[in-house]
Amino acid sequence: MQKQIDIKSLTKEQLKNEILELGEKSFRSDQIYEWIHKKLVLDFDEMTNIKKEFREKCKERFILTNLEAVDVQTSKIDGTKKYLFQLADGNLVESVWMKYKHGNSVCISSQVGCRMGCRFCASTLDGLERNLTPSEMLDQIYKITRLTGERVSNVVVMGTGEPLDNFQNLLVFIQLLTDEYGLHISQRNVTVSTCGIVPKMKELADKKLQITLALSLHGATDEKRRRLMPVAERYTIEQLMEACRYYFEKTGRRITFEYSMVAGINDTSEDAGEIIALAKPLNCHINLIPVNPVAERNFKQPDISFVEGFKNKLEKNRINVTIRREMGRDIDGACGQLRRRHKEEKEETQC
Ligand code: SAH
Repeated sequence: MQKQIDIKSLTKEQLKNEILELGEKSFRSDQIYEWIHKKLVLDFDEMTNIKKEFREKCKERFILTNLEAVDVQTSKIDGTKKYLFQLADGNLVESVWMKYKHGNSVCISSQVGCRMGCRFCASTLDGLERNLTPSEMLDQIYKITRLTGERVSNVVVMGTGEPLDNFQNLLVFIQLLTDEYGLHISQRNVTVSTCGIVPKMKELADKKLQITLALSLHGATDEKRRRLMPVAERYTIEQLMEACRYYFEKTGRRITFEYSMVAGINDTSEDAGEIIALAKPLNCHINLIPVNPVAERNFKQPDISFVEGFKNKLEKNRINVTIRREMGRDIDGACGQLRRRHKEEKEETQC
């Protein structure tokens, strides 16, 4: 038997070709597309305007992916929900649902594990297991939409994984997510966060999407960045800033810099001065994130007064800056930690 095709990862054009090949008319493909991406069905038998005979053909040819929620934690403080999902092959990924005044936001994972090695990050401790398919990225949002019964209006690709290390799948995912016959989430409401893979940042710019690119900066000099992020050995700050300018030129979209603050490493007034020098010539926004302590690593959050002082200094220099509101503080902290805890528990019970 031919290998079944992951139908949810097909673009509209690819789906059309597949349906034509199966001997149906092209409008059927539009109907099926809507069942999958708008009505979010999990079974071909739910597609009531498709003849039974053709549904059977589809079941043979295609697979409709689904995720199983194996753990959900709900914050008592702000209603944030953290989901641990199991993929078809047993791997686990995390997603977070946050409720804001302006709508619901979901933070998704783009890979199982990560190979970027950022020193403060729990997702990378065991390296990369594999890339997620477009359908597995969509499924996190589709499943949460079904479970909460509420529309998702913002998506941030800031969970486990480096999205630009899974570039082609990411592009298909964005296309499907923002398509008018699917959930139709505005590109402007999609943020992709990268540790700074320069050639891919430029390739993304060339696609001229209206999404927000967030760059995890975390240090304003090469030396500082290298202490926290191995990727800084490959690309210098100068190359990164050039890529940011290029992104802005091509898309007109302001860049976001993420700056995780670690006590004694990147939280001094000198660091603030260096950030100002970098940020001033650019059209950007800076998001300060007090580092989330990870058990395996010895990094500590700066005192909140340091973070506030840092922010004030940037503001005085007319830099657009916010301190990331910590959502779901009472449920498993930083990304990657929920999955890690589950893996450890499983290993313990197996011993
Ligand atoms: N690989 C991408 C996206 C995933 S991480 C990237 O590097 O941007 C999303 C953001 O959370 C990044 O800015 C990352 O550096 C930050 N982050 C990861 N672990 C953290 C922790 N323990 N505390 C604070 N920020 C963390």
